[in-house]
Amino acid sequence: VKVRGVEIGGPDCVIMAGPCAVESREQIFAAARAVKEAGARLLRGGAFKPRTSPYSFQGLQNEGLELLKEVGEQVGIATVTEVIDPHDVGEVAAHADMLQIGARNMQNFPLLIEAGRSGHPVLLKRGPSASLDEFLLAAEYILDQGNPQVVLCERGVHPLDRAYTRNTTDLNAVPVLKEISHLPVIVDPSHGTGHARYVPAIARAAVAAGADGLIVEVHPCPREALSDGQQSLTPAQFADLMISLERVAAAVDRRIARQS
Ligand code: PEP
Ligand code: MN
Repeated sequence: VKVRGVEIGGPDCVIMAGPCAVESREQIFAAARAVKEAGARLLRGGAFKPRTSPYSFQGLQNEGLELLKEVGEQVGIATVTEVIDPHDVGEVAAHADMLQIGARNMQNFPLLIEAGRSGHPVLLKRGPSASLDEFLLAAEYILDQGNPQVVLCERGVHPLDRAYTRNTTDLNAVPVLKEISHLPVIVDPSHGTGHARYVPAIARAAVAAGADGLIVEVHPCPREALSDGQQSLTPAQFADLMISLERVAAAVDRRIARQS
């Protein structure tokens, strides 16, 4: 899969990073500069946020899309952002380099079909209770529209025990999906664990398991984040993680993709 010149599913692991949500111009520019500097190849940031409660921050929506486009162009980094409504696919595709379909929408078939029709690269997240066959059949809805640009993302499944982690990162999914599908597979250790202090260990484990990349939440100031601050790394923590990921990648004969 190619996203604005970045190859996902090739020999190198691609790291995507950024805040859960686009919150302000200052926040998204600071995040973009920090993650790019540390070696991330894509900037993440939600403009439309699917929140459990309707009273939680829902994202800056169209204003967030404008900021993403601006930051992507000015900082020089490809962008990925979530689309939650099939009617917004065109608008989101016009402002971001990759569409994210979130865990809650993995089986939103009209959304999958619209994303397929767009021809835009799609990051499809596994639903928290979805089997791997359900996940792959959801991806098939996009492929079936003639859009081969699909990346699978394991983001944690419903846990047995929520006392310590938000979800359980299903690392088994990585080698299994790599075997039964041709699609690139990445891992989201942020939603997979729900706590910043566990993110580096699971990120490294995912690379060791053969993931084609990671998507990691990074916020300039996690304490002030409007969503998912507890699982967001600081820019310094992310930069440290990137250094340790290089060593893990080398141990499994891979590299972390760097800007050429
Ligand atoms: C996100 O990436 O911020 C998000 C909402 O992810 P998921 O769909 O995996 O919960
Ligand atoms: Mn999030």
